[in-house]
Amino acid sequence: MARKPIIAGNWKMNLTLKKAVSFVQEVKDKIPANSKIDTVIGSPALFLASLADARKGTDLKLSAQNSYWENEGAFTGENSPYAIVDLDVEYVIIGHSERREYFHETDQEINKKAKAIIKNDLTPIICCGETIETFEAGKTAEWVEGQITAALKDLTSGQVANLIIAYEPIWAIGTGKSATAKIADTTCGVVRSTVEKLYGKDIAEKVRIQYGGSVKPENIAEYMSKENIDGALVGGASLKVDSFLALLDFAR
Ligand code: PGA
Repeated sequence: MARKPIIAGNWKMNLTLKKAVSFVQEVKDKIPANSKIDTVIGSPALFLASLADARKGTDLKLSAQNSYWENEGAFTGENSPYAIVDLDVEYVIIGHSERREYFHETDQEINKKAKAIIKNDLTPIICCGETIETFEAGKTAEWVEGQITAALKDLTSGQVANLIIAYEPIWAIGTGKSATAKIADTTCGVVRSTVEKLYGKDIAEKVRIQYGGSVKPENIAEYMSKENIDGALVGGASLKVDSFLALLDFAR
């Protein structure tokens, strides 16, 4: 079964409302027609309502970069998945290594977030990935398997079949030192076999797995040619219109 490619920009904490809206206005009609791929922009929550308006009627999809696990309540500063879906947004990135490292997010919290996101009919993009020390110690597979097993705890097969998992080695994020396509494919394969162990082959064949870490227009085609890689999660190279659009060229 062919899995539909999914290319997602992760803007992180960049741009302003004005710049974000003009970006979307520029790209929205230029993404590949007939939904050959899912094209997503992961924007700061502050811009999502305006971007949802700006991309109306096009195939461009939107993602938040985080959300809380409760729908409402006294949680100052957090963003509710229930409010995010109300903005007409499709995805939420969770478990990004920057959130794990700088905001001390745990596997258990990421699991709670995944459940809340799914309950609100949003699709989580669940990130995993190892440090350079873990990579050099040859413990990547074990580490990633642990992160994915924890993130998926108590999810049903039907829920897992529809979600997105992004493998992002921390040593490749924002460093220009991307993982080779072979390494990326091998670890995305570990993610898939972890899903297979937990949910069986059918579900593992359905789940879409992205590679992320210094993906750019020049290297994306090689990643996308690999068996276990169904898409990319792209930071730096998603911030400029030309470069963002060039990421989609592999599918034209
Ligand atoms: P990068 O970031 O493409 O700038 O390496 C990827 C990510 O953090 O999702």
